[in-house]
Amino acid sequence: MARFDLFVIGGGSGGIACARRAAAYGARVGLAEPGRLGGTCVVRGCVPKKLMHYAAHLGGLIRTSRSYGWRVTEPELDFRALLEARNGEIRRLEGIYERLLETAGVTLFRAPARLVSKGEAPHRVAVGGEEVLADNLLVAVGGRPSLPEVPGIEHAVTSEFLLEEVYDRPKHLVVVGAGYIGLELASIMRGLGVRVTLVYRRDLPLRGFDHELRIELAEALAREGIELRPCTRVARIGKHADGVVLETDSGPIEAGMVLYATGREPVPNTRGLGLEEAGVRMDADGTIYVDITYRSNVPGIYAVGDCSDHAGHGLRANQYDLTPVAIAEGRAIAERLFRDHPQLVNYETVPTAVFSIPQAASVGYTEQQARDLGHDVAVYKTRFRPMLHSLEGGQQQTFMKILVDRADDRVLGCHMVGEDAAEIIQGFAVALTCGATKEQFDATVGLHPSAAEEFVTMYQPAVPSAEPASETTS
Ligand code: FAD
Ligand code: NDP
Repeated sequence: MARFDLFVIGGGSGGIACARRAAAYGARVGLAEPGRLGGTCVVRGCVPKKLMHYAAHLGGLIRTSRSYGWRVTEPELDFRALLEARNGEIRRLEGIYERLLETAGVTLFRAPARLVSKGEAPHRVAVGGEEVLADNLLVAVGGRPSLPEVPGIEHAVTSEFLLEEVYDRPKHLVVVGAGYIGLELASIMRGLGVRVTLVYRRDLPLRGFDHELRIELAEALAREGIELRPCTRVARIGKHADGVVLETDSGPIEAGMVLYATGREPVPNTRGLGLEEAGVRMDADGTIYVDITYRSNVPGIYAVGDCSDHAGHGLRANQYDLTPVAIAEGRAIAERLFRDHPQLVNYETVPTAVFSIPQAASVGYTEQQARDLGHDVAVYKTRFRPMLHSLEGGQQQTFMKILVDRADDRVLGCHMVGEDAAEIIQGFAVALTCGATKEQFDATVGLHPSAAEEFVTMYQPAVPSAEPASETTS
């Protein structure tokens, strides 16, 4: 029976990162992936989403170019050509991941894996018709879209369909859910010429983000032509020849397609893996409980990424189901086990972006979080029309906000809605990780002319904003 120092179940962001790093340190590593290598991010998440985001963004730029003297007719999109080009690129990336694992010396099993032993390490794993032994077992099986129990929910599609399949562009798309996926796909499809209605159950999108960022983003989405239906619940979904009809508490909505983007959970990926039988502690959603070194309660069994619970690290939960977080966690395990180099992932300054149009991005605390933690917060903010759109007289606005602890001048959070927000906030994440103060922001010379320079030129604190008692309830 083959024996591995580390056996990884799941060839997504976390699993591949851990396997490659461990193999680089000389560990004997096996990895099981029954689906497409690269996992959610590469196959049906970040990468196809970003390619489609570029496509949507380009359409807008072609129109904006007219104000710069370019004589262009109304751009026409070959939607299927876009989806096929996108899928071709994903296939190319899958091949690269396979070669990277092979080159690293990882033994690849293209089959589902299942834990069959119940005791201490070495663990016995059934995979592809054989059994192998693993001194350490990493579960990195990710999550799946979770759909609420609404009558007719079988008529809805999920992000997996929109990002992995080739289909005809709907004339009208209804998106239910205003988290990351709902906002990104609503913006992308709107930018690709689809009429989009965004239905959500609260008064603002993007619960968990800074309250003012949420207001700014909602206004920006409406300016981009997305029809917002806040405080709306869907009672049932009906099917007719041309599409669907949603019965909601604010009236019926007819559309060609309905996308449900109502969160993700590890079930069913963590079910049937033999984890319950081995006594691994999980919650009702199948999330595996781990400590800060990603150990489950069973010795030698670890979990990282979307299928593991990072609660207790101090920041809002939905910030953790991110690719760089899964990668950092996977690498931290390899460093600890095979290089005796304990590393803790820094969750305090994980930057995050929503690739809507315009983008929204944040690092650090929201204003409410900072106040709840007892900080005496000074707020700096600015709003301006991005120069790119000045010639066309566009209504676009860029919004930036900095939160500073009055006690020690430390910058606690940076938030932005506007073009390139993701690129800009990544840089400020370095500053926050280094514990930068507002004085150091002020001492930094701006790069002109850029939007980013506004982050180092905000001078006067604003009067405190009126936020609700808790962002989690708004
Ligand atoms: P995954 O990447 O999901 O990998 C899990 C793998 O395990 C899968 O390949 C699965 O096939 C495999 N598996 C399941 N069961 C078994 C089994 N029994 N045996 C073997 N293998 C199994 N994050 C960002 O940081 N930026 C973004 O822009 C971004 N965009 C996203 C857009 C969408 C639409 C979605 C859905 C997610 C997005 N994310 C983004 C989140 C990101 O994709 C995930 O956080 C990340 O992929 C999690 O990695 P993981 O390793 O935990 O799981
Ligand atoms: P989110 O948790 O971000 O958002 C879910 C949305 O669905 C919220 O608006 C939520 O409302 C709503 N919702 C949940 N249940 C129901 C229900 N029963 N009825 C109606 N509405 C409901 O999940 P997503 O699916 O958008 O994304 C999953 C995760 O994937 C994200 O949290 C993120 O970690 C990751 N991701 C990251 C991306 C990035 O980094 N750019 C992009 C895409 C995904 P409420 O707020 O009221 O609970």
